[in-house]
Amino acid sequence: MKISDIFTCQKCGGHEIEEVVIGVTISSLVENVYDDGDIEYGPSENDGGEMDRYQCANCGKEIIDGMIGIKDVDQLYEYLMNLKNGKEN
Ligand SMILES: [Zn+2]
Repeated sequence: MKISDIFTCQKCGGHEIEEVVIGVTISSLVENVYDDGDIEYGPSENDGGEMDRYQCANCGKEIIDGMIGIKDVDQLYEYLMNLKNGKEN
């Protein structure tokens, strides 16, 4: 089921959720240098990081289930299932 069919942000009415991970190390290949001072990067890799929160992709409001922020996928799943069931009832 599409998230946009069941989620509506209470602040802005948006329908997209994004996961925010903090403390990620990004390693990028440095590939080219140009005469005008530009440096061009190639592919990058992400390493580590810690899941911080889920938020509205439009306004950034953290998604709260009851009184607490959602901290992992299991909680997110439960939250979304409750939303879905709420729509059907
Ligand atoms: Zn929003």
